[in-house]
Amino acid sequence: MCIVSVVVPMYNEEEVIMETYKRLKSVMDGTGETYELIFVNDGSRDKTRDLASAICYKDKNVKLIDFARNFGHQVAISAGMDNSCGDAVVVIDADLQDPPEVIPQMMAKWREGYDVVYGKRLKREGDSFFKKFTAKVFYRTLNKMTDTEIPVDTGDFRLIDRKVCDALKNSISEKNRYVRGIISWLGFKSAPVEFVREKRFAGTTKYPLKKMLKFAGDAIMSFSLKPLKLATYLGVGISIASLIYGIVLVILKLCGVLSTVMGWTSIVAISLFFNGIILMILGILGSYIGRIYEEVKGRPLYVIQEKINFD
Ligand code: UDP
Ligand code: MG
Repeated sequence: MCIVSVVVPMYNEEEVIMETYKRLKSVMDGTGETYELIFVNDGSRDKTRDLASAICYKDKNVKLIDFARNFGHQVAISAGMDNSCGDAVVVIDADLQDPPEVIPQMMAKWREGYDVVYGKRLKREGDSFFKKFTAKVFYRTLNKMTDTEIPVDTGDFRLIDRKVCDALKNSISEKNRYVRGIISWLGFKSAPVEFVREKRFAGTTKYPLKKMLKFAGDAIMSFSLKPLKLATYLGVGISIASLIYGIVLVILKLCGVLSTVMGWTSIVAISLFFNGIILMILGILGSYIGRIYEEVKGRPLYVIQEKINFD
């Protein structure tokens, strides 16, 4: 047993893992509490696994969960939490964008009685304009679409109490998960700790645009049914508009103003436009159905090929 578990998801992080270990070790040693560092190797194709197991060999406070393949960041976090034993569990990125030095502040808040202490990004130092802009728009759109209040500008860098971790482990089985949203959905007493998000220590982002879009889709679809209602709203709107248009045409015809056949170009344009809308709505429906299918299949969330230093 230990007081604090620190979960670190890693995907191709060979360039940062040694430095991350050093920084985390010195911060955690400084707290004077018993702790474990849980490295989750999410199917890296570089030396991350070997470096992590070498660290485990030397330091028994470090544990490794080695996935059989890449299952994704959110799943890696979940696996770390599932296998943690601390009274508090901290989740932190491996690239030192979340400074480990903030952990003692989170622990202080936790001791005050908060069950969720989340890191709130005051500034993002290293991220590109595109990342900052899309993140800002995303967090605000998500909040407009959901009834669950998910704090804006916060990542997965946070401390949760054992009871929050157990609630997550025992009662949540979602496959395409958005962990920070689920934690907000669970409730519990929470408080922010502000920090400046630093530059990545080394290496490049493991979240290319494609993963970012999947992540955003998971977040919205797990927490909102609004996209499904889009068809209804558009349908009602278009029906009303065409009814008015029809009435206008009849009146014009009766008055003798309208005598020629209407243009070909506009008919083609309108027809293409509405075909586009119909396909888009089918796509939205498909995404939700795909998610239902994944839940129904009931496959495990992740597959572990090796665990080191877990007794
Ligand atoms: N990560 C992971 N699996 C993935 C992608 C990322 O475990 O498939 C980890 C990565 O190693 C890092 C964290 O998730 O510890 C955040 O990733 P990254 O720093 O690349 O994202 P960014 O900060 O650029 O959004
Ligand atoms: Mg990062």
